[in-house]
Amino acid sequence: MYDTVKTREDFPILSRTVYGRPLVYLDNAATTQKPRCVVESIVNEYYSVNANVHRGVHFLSQQATELHENSRETVRRFINARSASEIVFTRGTTESVNLVASSFADSQMQAGDEVIVSVMEHHSNIVSWQLQAARKGIVLKVIPMNDQGELLLDEYEKLFTPRTRIVSVAHVSNVLGTVNPVAELIRIAHAHDVPVLIDGAQSIPHTPVDVQALGADFYVFSGHKVYGPTGIGVLYGREEWLDRLPPYQGGGEMIKNVSFEKTTFNELPFKFEAGTPDYIGSTALARALDYVSALGMEDIERHERGLTLYALSRLKSIPGMRIFGEAEHRSGVVSFLVDGVHPLDMGTLLDRMGIAVRTGHHCAEPLMRRMGVEGTVRASFALYNTMSEVDALAEGIERACKMLR
Ligand code: PLP
Repeated sequence: MYDTVKTREDFPILSRTVYGRPLVYLDNAATTQKPRCVVESIVNEYYSVNANVHRGVHFLSQQATELHENSRETVRRFINARSASEIVFTRGTTESVNLVASSFADSQMQAGDEVIVSVMEHHSNIVSWQLQAARKGIVLKVIPMNDQGELLLDEYEKLFTPRTRIVSVAHVSNVLGTVNPVAELIRIAHAHDVPVLIDGAQSIPHTPVDVQALGADFYVFSGHKVYGPTGIGVLYGREEWLDRLPPYQGGGEMIKNVSFEKTTFNELPFKFEAGTPDYIGSTALARALDYVSALGMEDIERHERGLTLYALSRLKSIPGMRIFGEAEHRSGVVSFLVDGVHPLDMGTLLDRMGIAVRTGHHCAEPLMRRMGVEGTVRASFALYNTMSEVDALAEGIERACKMLR
């Protein structure tokens, strides 16, 4: 097991203060802080290797290309994809979902065809499909959940019809922390010959992921949520599927030959990577994945589970506390409200104590509607958080309650 206190030294920002108090950063589901090795990777590559990738014969271009393609291999290894050509670099989860929604709807769906999503999706996995619904007349169907925040598998099975073309669901809810039974959801979809996209934005930083073991057809995530830089993300797609989908954007890199009469497209994964890629970001993302791999994803998961269980027990002893999401399988996200206290007031007072949490609808308005609230306060944990930070949160909430009631 890694040493949390020592690990914190890798993250310079964690030793700063806000309003004169030590920072307690509990907004990790929104974005994680960056270890030194990730920031240094960005600086070093700009200082010593920077050149555009793929097309250059010169030394720097070849070195930059090697770094970029090695990073693709690092991502492949991290999620155990079969081939590096199944790893497409995007700007993040949102762009990855939009890419699949657009190319899949264009090539595989007709008016009246259906996509199944769940009630706990982030807006990016709802609106991307709604844009296609408006364009092509496809229909969204929604997996409901119980009051603990668990998807109802019986109801899910009933949603399949001969018009179902794809299922698109989150691995882990960014509001409830529910870990959805994605292997089972995929198994059921495949029994109906339907492919599945898994939104891994909230799973990839917290648990080992093996896309082949899960059987995922598409798996998407953002670099910045797994200690990497902003502006880079990943679309994993099984080769059989990526081969069948048309390009998402046109431009350089994604073509083989261009004439005004006819253009042929590049092979995978470049067919989906139009324009200069974020090669600085891909190297830094690979450093982030190396970093968490060295700590051990199982150990990170165990550490965060300990924090979450402790947070739940501390918070539940606070009078008027209401926790949202009591799934049996859960991740390090704790959403809550305290009777008589507006979430924005709670978030603002905690902030003054140096404690960063998120308040609001968390880009999941349909889920808020299902829970009958407008928003919640959300604390979310990362590999560097400590039990004493959980204590600070619990004590901060108690103090805020006294001030606000
Ligand atoms: N999906 C889930 C479950 C998320 O939590 C988020 C971000 O919070 C996203 C998608 C969107 O990620 P990004 O904004 O990095 O594209």
